[in-house]
Amino acid sequence: MLRVVTNKLPQRSFRNIRTLGTGTFNGDGKKNIDIPSSADVVIIGGGSAGCNALYQLGKRGVNTVLLDKSKLISGTTWHTAGLVWCLRNVCDIEMELLKASRLIYASLQEETNINPGWINNGGLLIARSSERVVEYERLMTACKNFGIDARIITPSETKEKFPLINDGTFLAAIHSPADGTIDPAMMVNALTKSAEKKGCKIIEDCPVTKLLVEDIDGQKIVHGVETPHGIIKTNVVLNAAGAWSKTIAQMAGLDIPLIPMKHAYVVTEPMDVRGLPNIRDPDLNLYFRVQGGTLSIGGYEPNPIILKFAPEDFSFSLYELDWDVFNTHVEAMNQLIPTLATTGIRTTVCGPESFTPDHRPLMGEDPRCTGFYYSCGYNSAGMMFGGGCGEQIASWIVNGRPEKHMFNYDIRRYIPEQRKNLVWSNERSHEAYARNYEIRFPHDEHLSGRNLKIDPFHDLLMKEGAVMEERQGWERPGWFLPDNKTTRILPYDYGGYYDTPKNMNDAYADILKAERTFNFSPYDDIIREEALSCRNNVGLFDMSYFGKYYICGPDASTAVDYIFTAQVNNREINRTVYTCMLNKNGGVEGDCTVTGLESGSGGVVDPIFKGKAFYIVSGGMSSYHTWAHVTKVIREKNLHASVHNVTEQIGILSIQGPNSREVLRMLVEDDLSNNSLPFSTSKLVKIDNELVHMFRLSFVGELGYELHIPRSSCEKVYKAVMECGRKYDIKLAGYRALYSLSCEKGYHLWGTDLRSDDNPIEAGLGFVCRTSGQYQGREFVEESRKNGIKKRLVHLHTPDDIPLWGMESVYRNGQLVGYLRRAEHGYTFKSSIGQAYITAPNGQNITREFLETGTYQIEVMGKRYPAKMYLQSPFDPHNKRLSGVYTI
Ligand SMILES: Cc1cc2nc3c(=O)[nH]c(=O)nc-3n(C[C@H](O)[C@H](O)[C@H](O)COP(=O)(O)OP(=O)(O)OC[C@H]3O[C@@H](n4cnc5c(N)ncnc54)[C@H](O)[C@@H]3O)c2cc1C
Repeated sequence: MLRVVTNKLPQRSFRNIRTLGTGTFNGDGKKNIDIPSSADVVIIGGGSAGCNALYQLGKRGVNTVLLDKSKLISGTTWHTAGLVWCLRNVCDIEMELLKASRLIYASLQEETNINPGWINNGGLLIARSSERVVEYERLMTACKNFGIDARIITPSETKEKFPLINDGTFLAAIHSPADGTIDPAMMVNALTKSAEKKGCKIIEDCPVTKLLVEDIDGQKIVHGVETPHGIIKTNVVLNAAGAWSKTIAQMAGLDIPLIPMKHAYVVTEPMDVRGLPNIRDPDLNLYFRVQGGTLSIGGYEPNPIILKFAPEDFSFSLYELDWDVFNTHVEAMNQLIPTLATTGIRTTVCGPESFTPDHRPLMGEDPRCTGFYYSCGYNSAGMMFGGGCGEQIASWIVNGRPEKHMFNYDIRRYIPEQRKNLVWSNERSHEAYARNYEIRFPHDEHLSGRNLKIDPFHDLLMKEGAVMEERQGWERPGWFLPDNKTTRILPYDYGGYYDTPKNMNDAYADILKAERTFNFSPYDDIIREEALSCRNNVGLFDMSYFGKYYICGPDASTAVDYIFTAQVNNREINRTVYTCMLNKNGGVEGDCTVTGLESGSGGVVDPIFKGKAFYIVSGGMSSYHTWAHVTKVIREKNLHASVHNVTEQIGILSIQGPNSREVLRMLVEDDLSNNSLPFSTSKLVKIDNELVHMFRLSFVGELGYELHIPRSSCEKVYKAVMECGRKYDIKLAGYRALYSLSCEKGYHLWGTDLRSDDNPIEAGLGFVCRTSGQYQGREFVEESRKNGIKKRLVHLHTPDDIPLWGMESVYRNGQLVGYLRRAEHGYTFKSSIGQAYITAPNGQNITREFLETGTYQIEVMGKRYPAKMYLQSPFDPHNKRLSGVYTI
């Protein structure tokens, strides 16, 4: 590739870009711009994110004003490569969002009579390793679930579609005919013209300089924005300021995990590529966009230039390309398209783009600032996600919730400690950027940003060989190395870049490397042993990262009555109830256990409070989301109830299995019999003189107990449990075993088989929904009960020992009816198991008869395997084991 850089940009159509809005000039020659005094919604930023949101809000009749500090598209959007893919990761919501974008872009012409610059030239995805081919086979199966037309083709077929490529260097490719390219200026023109017709306003050269925010009892509320041209009052502000979004958030005193970086592509001299498809070559970290008769070529470098901030005055601007960084691509691009070696570069395009720690955008309302929404952090995919995400953010603003399960995009997926820790955001965003095109293996973990949150048992369990996983900033044991081996996680080495010495002898990284497979893990036998020891004897799980909250105050009972679906109020004290909490559309926003408490004698497990209180425990992944939902409903209903987060202060040991009671009998004097401590109740006990709140509960379907222990007592209690447990050969077990066991039992896992787009009846959780009293979302539950449902969660078991990871297609009588939301190796059943929502192909209500009369198959990488369908999990259907009954 010849570097003949002219520093001229590729030609773009800016003919439709507007000039300044109406106004007069003041004495300094500066223009005074007329701005409205109020609006329903103010959007900050006129790039892809802001304009797509504006278009969608306009469609919904919302009086919206969009402000840009400069001109529309003058930020990152103007110099985008504009690629719009159908397929990235094996992920349902992502596929749906990308599909939505394509449909919106393709329909804009008809709707607005304006050409939005959508070119449907198709795409090719190159595979250079056998594992990559397996990943593509998984993608092929997954895309059937969403009606995406794509197929795997041979290298010679690939060459037919793109004659310039060297077909001798790769194994296979995907051809995705629906891929294409969107022109940013034309797209924004169509979106904004449509929005203006619907009454929305666009004001350029109008920077937001201040957010008007009130602070009431620690909760911020947005009231408006200030600009050099005056104030606009509003109760909703959407931060769509791209790489500048962090500055906007800081105006409200909020941190967001958004890291601006330089991202670049080069544009070649004319080549014989007109009309050919775009290409991604992920094993070489490269993408190629066909732009008229030239190629735009960019990629993901191991050492991107990380910016402290995006320059304020950057408008239609670019950086000089740093060839030391970009050079990594030059040899690679010649490998795929050899003629590039003798083709000149016409220009380079290097601009600021915003990146996030998990390479997904930041969306939704900030839990700490009512009315302040985000649609930013698009990780070099803001064109392909712009349409779909614009639709979701509009629905979020208008209806309080998006239509899809957007948790992986929701700002609430980050805990406050992650948001405020710049080092953490920097490390994780770097890793996400550098590994963007890597194969996503099911058990991969991050090497960056580790040990941010560790629970009181962390060091003890590390000594026992815990191999840690990280979720929501917390370290949790995934499984345990045998034979007294230990592994620790080293500080992040940035891949050896930025003058950071590369880690040597990284045992943890080696373990992860060994697990980079779509086959069963090489550690599967160890995990099986952990799971089966819990089924057959006794296992100990550290569940400390679960969220723990007390709800108290004069309206505590009213609050739990309204928030939770189950009867959690007016139950006996110390009775634990499993429940869902719903959004206004009846979708499940979380599941948790709630225990009614009386005021105690003091301390974190027996707190003193006035009146009645409730102890909420929710899964670690959804803990912050649960807190955000509960506190929002309390605020909205103006209730006098407070939520105290005691997650850090209480450790949880869960002792599960037929011998769990025998172990604990050696430790506590209290009667632990079924009569004295029945399932789903709790009591305060002393273990080695330490006060512990003991719950008779199980997440795995066994006789089991959870010990909720004050942080300062954790080590002592753990040692006492292990000491007595040794007599019964107690085994430490991690989350890999726990998830397998809970899936076998048919328990739900929020975020996978239970989400905000599922209602409890669809999820088979009607039994946790009261038929009396009012709770949020109840009318949707009742309607589903009365009128039936369109999808139903079922359990599927394959007799074949074939690894399942989720997203595999499910067929009933040969017809596609769903896909696995969650899958596990079911060690007790000696088979692979999963859970899927089944829909009827004709869109009719789903009935028991329909479900029970079919013959099922699961498609795994193109091959179908027979599966048995269960409406209820076949594991201990009468819950005898929960009661400690192990004899038949
Ligand atoms: C080299 C490169 C190639 C890319 N290729 C692709 C691709 O092929 N496909 C794809 O999907 N994505 C791609 N992207 C990413 C995509 O272009 C971006 O994700 C997208 O344009 C971001 O849009 P945005 O609206 O979030 O941000 P921007 O376009 O940056 O818009 C933010 C706007 O906010 C305004 N603003 C900032 N501060 C204020 C303030 N105080 N008051 C008012 N306004 C303010 C700015 O002026 C700006 O106009 C690429 C990015 C780069 C850099």
